[in-house]
Amino acid sequence: MIRTVVCEKDGCSSNKFFIGSEDEKLNLICAQCESRYSIDSKEQDYIMLPNCSNCNNDTFKVYRDIENKSVYAKCSKCGAVPEKIYIDSDGIQVSYEAKLLNDIKQIMYLVEQRIYNLEVNIKDLERSQNILEQSLAYINKYLVEKD
Ligand SMILES: [Zn+2]
Ligand SMILES: [Zn+2]
Repeated sequence: MIRTVVCEKDGCSSNKFFIGSEDEKLNLICAQCESRYSIDSKEQDYIMLPNCSNCNNDTFKVYRDIENKSVYAKCSKCGAVPEKIYIDSDGIQVSYEAKLLNDIKQIMYLVEQRIYNLEVNIKDLERSQNILEQSLAYINKYLVEKD
């Protein structure tokens, strides 16, 4: 279930926040009363930057998925997502393109492994077939000799 984050201060209930990432938390500052909130945003492979990726606006509506504990932010003006910095498997901050490239490399590696395994299987199969043919030849020979 996804819920909109709303400022909890009495008489405010604004749903626009300035955002900032810090370690595994997302810090929110109410754009109206400046109340501060801190939300766990663990297990994300990116850091949200405090400005919109599309229009550079700096206030966001924030949504929380209660079930999987993820946090989303949408620009309060245009609805786009915040600018993001991605973190690769070594924990290094990279651009989205670099992360994508890295992910593709990993997939290619897995595909290569699979192809390798398939080749091994095929070789095994060829070997079995050879043995089978040899056996058949032997049986044929035996039958011929018996006659
Ligand atoms: Zn507020
Ligand atoms: Zn925007």
